[in-house]
Amino acid sequence: MKNIKYTVEVAIVGGGMIGAALACGLAKNGFQVALLEKKMPLLFDPNTHPNLRISAINSSSISFLRQLGVWQDVLMMRCAPYRRQEVWECQNTKLKFDSALVGLPELGYMVENHVLQHALWKKLCKENIYLLCPSLLQSMNRVNDHWNLFLDNGDRVEAKLIIGADGADSQVCKLAGIRKTGWFYQQSCMLISVHCEGEAGDIAWQQFTPRGPRAFLPLFGCWASLVWYDRPDWIQKLQSMSMLALTKEIHNTFPIQLGKVTPVMAASFSLSRKHVTSYTLPGLALAGDSAHTIHPLAGQGVNLGYRDAMVLISVLSKARENMTKWFHRDVLQGYQYQRESDNRMMQNGMDLLYYVFNKKSIPIKVLRNIGLLITEHSMWLKRKTLSYMLGI
Ligand SMILES: Cc1cc2nc3c(=O)[nH]c(=O)nc-3n(C[C@H](O)[C@H](O)[C@H](O)COP(=O)(O)OP(=O)(O)OC[C@H]3O[C@@H](n4cnc5c(N)ncnc54)[C@H](O)[C@@H]3O)c2cc1C
Repeated sequence: MKNIKYTVEVAIVGGGMIGAALACGLAKNGFQVALLEKKMPLLFDPNTHPNLRISAINSSSISFLRQLGVWQDVLMMRCAPYRRQEVWECQNTKLKFDSALVGLPELGYMVENHVLQHALWKKLCKENIYLLCPSLLQSMNRVNDHWNLFLDNGDRVEAKLIIGADGADSQVCKLAGIRKTGWFYQQSCMLISVHCEGEAGDIAWQQFTPRGPRAFLPLFGCWASLVWYDRPDWIQKLQSMSMLALTKEIHNTFPIQLGKVTPVMAASFSLSRKHVTSYTLPGLALAGDSAHTIHPLAGQGVNLGYRDAMVLISVLSKARENMTKWFHRDVLQGYQYQRESDNRMMQNGMDLLYYVFNKKSIPIKVLRNIGLLITEHSMWLKRKTLSYMLGI
C-alpha cells in the first residue's frame, strides 16, 4: 500500500484529554489539524463499572469544555458533581469547603478520563481534521519552516507547528531534545474503585496521615473511588493482595467516615514532579503532562493541562488574526510566558502540602493543624484558597 503524506498547519501528538481538547479548539478556530494517537480510545458503555482513572474537573476546565461544545455530552454520559470538600489530619481540625462559599452550584465534577476523552473524540469526528489512529510517532525532523513527522505505518505528516500532548513520557519532548527537571516522590498511590452501601453522596474528603493522604472521591450512584497514598513498597504489597485482604486493609486504614465498602478494582501508580526546561522550540510547543506532572493530591493535573490548552489556542488564534507568523518561536514564547509560572506555582503548592504533612515532628504537626484551623475560621482565606484551586 502506498504511504500517505498529510500536509497540515498543526500536528498534535497524543489524543488524550488535553491533545483532543487542543485539536477541537484549534479546528474550531479555523486551523487545519492532524491528531496522532497510538491507541484507540475506550468506547463508553453505560452498563459498565466506573473506570479506575478519574479526574476532578474544576469550574475553569468545565467552562472550557463548554466552549468546545463537549460538556453537555459528558453530562449525558456519566459524571458526578461534588459540592463539598473536607480535609483534615485530626478530626477536630477539619477544613471544610462548600461550593456556596464561591457562589457556585458545585465545586466540580468527578469524571472518568475515558468519558471525557470519548466526548472530545465524538466532537472531533464532526470536525474537518485528520484523525490518525492508531498511529505512533517514531521520528521527526525540521526542514526549513516546517516539521516532518514519521509514523510507524510509514505515513508522514508535514506541519508548521507540532504540539506534544503525548503525556508524561512524551516522545515529542525526547525527540526534540527538551530536558525535564524533577523527581519521583517517595510515595506511590493506589486507586481503588469501590461500591458503597448507600449513595456515595457529594462530599469529597481527604485525611492526611504521616504515611500519606487517604481520599474518598464520590462517583455516580453507590460508586466511589479511593485514593491511598503510601510508601512505594507498601503500595506494591497492597497491589499483590486479594480483594478480600484489600477490603480488610481498607477498613483498618481509612477513617470511620468511609463506612462499609466493597473494592472492585485497583491499580497503583508511581508519582512524579517533572517540568520541562522549555515549553517551546521553533514550530513546536508542549502542553499538559508532556510539559509538567504534579503530585495528584489535589487533583490538578488535567486542570493545569486545560489551562495550557486555553492559552495556547488563544495565543495562536490571536497571532493568526493579526497576520503574524503564528508558529514562530516569539509567538510560542508568549504561551510559555503565561503558563510556566502558574504550573510551577501549583507544583510548589502541592510539594509544600506533601512535605509539611509528611513530617512526623510534633511541633510541625501542631503548626499544620493550627494552619488548618486558621484557614477554616477565615472566610477570606478559605475563599482565596478555593478560588485558586477552582481556577476562578
Ligand atoms: C493517580 C493519578 C490521579 C490523578 N487524578 C487527577 C485528578 O483528580 N484531577 C486532575 O486534574 N488530574 C489528575 N491526574 C493527572 C492527570 O491524569 C493527567 O494530568 C492527565 O492524564 C494528563 O493528560 P494528557 O492528555 O496531557 O496526557 P495523557 O493522559 O497521558 O495522554 C497522552 C496521550 O498520548 C498518547 N501517546 C503517547 N505517546 C504517543 C506517541 N508516540 N504517538 C502517538 N500517541 C501517543 C497516549 O496514548 C495518550 O492517549 C492524576 C494522575 C494520577 C497519576
